[in-house]
Amino acid sequence: MGITKVTVIGAGTMGAGIAQVCAQAGWQTTLYDAYPEGLDRGMKRIDAFWDKGIARGKTTAEQKRQWSENLTAEQDLSKAVNKCDLVIEAVPEILELKQKIFREVEQYCSRQTIFATNTSSLSIAKIAQGMDNPGNLIGMHFFNPVPIMKLLELVKHDGTNKSTVEFAQAAGLAMGKTTILVNDVPGFATSRLGVVLGNEAIRMLADGVASAKDIDTAMVLGYKHPMGPLALTDLVGLDVRRDILKNLQQSFGDDSYAPHPLLEKLVQENRLGKKTGVGIYDWTSGEASETELPEF
Ligand code: NAD
Repeated sequence: MGITKVTVIGAGTMGAGIAQVCAQAGWQTTLYDAYPEGLDRGMKRIDAFWDKGIARGKTTAEQKRQWSENLTAEQDLSKAVNKCDLVIEAVPEILELKQKIFREVEQYCSRQTIFATNTSSLSIAKIAQGMDNPGNLIGMHFFNPVPIMKLLELVKHDGTNKSTVEFAQAAGLAMGKTTILVNDVPGFATSRLGVVLGNEAIRMLADGVASAKDIDTAMVLGYKHPMGPLALTDLVGLDVRRDILKNLQQSFGDDSYAPHPLLEKLVQENRLGKKTGVGIYDWTSGEASETELPEF
């Protein structure tokens, strides 16, 4: 595998983190976003992460200088992907949007370019539909926060080339990640188990089995999970988890994946978790504190 240039499309929570680890891997990394303010936010987030690393003694100023030199912001898509070896897409979780981007970007790239999508729940085969070289597409599912989380879930569809898988495995290793290889089934390996656990924890909370904190503590101390399933749901976003559950329910035709009514109600009330300040817990003080739950 020879990687010189990587382009990340979408400079949000995930795209900025992915571009950061690519730059740290020593690759010429271009970050693209359809919106100038999105691109600016992403570049600032990376810079702030490196500055925090310097303040904590984990990064040197020289490292930051080298990594910054590897990183470029670009607002023209055709220029952004010009001569790049790997394109990683991290735009919102909308099938048609991802399909459109790969169909367009492929036209600006060589046949050797490898394409990766950071989708957390969509079918890789469906995203590949309409591409000239669908064998060059693979799922590279990173975890938030990307620079810290070690796992990289690689998802191959039936038509993914063996060489694409090998390329992605080597790229993951160079980014300091441990890769797992999963087939293109709804929810892959991680999202499916994660959302089911979270949904069941919400059902237990709604049934009055125990308080939110006690349910979370059960998994932290009893099963060595680093964080309880309810706090994790708040961190990921209740809307995101609700959408993944609905996607699984529909894809498998199995209502056991249906989002619990309490989860639906919290989303309706815009209690989306940490990002809106309140979800299952109240995060306004910076810490998770128990709060009253709505009728559902
Ligand atoms: P986000 O909303 O933080 O970022 C999306 C970015 O894409 C924004 O900056 C937006 O301006 C940009 N964008 C929108 N339309 C675009 C277009 N047409 N071209 C280029 N850029 C465009 O979203 P996110 O949380 O970073 O999620 C991105 C992807 O990663 C989704 O597929 C999501 O399912 C997946 N994912 C998210 C997480 C997570 O914890 N947030 C974890 C794993 C995977």
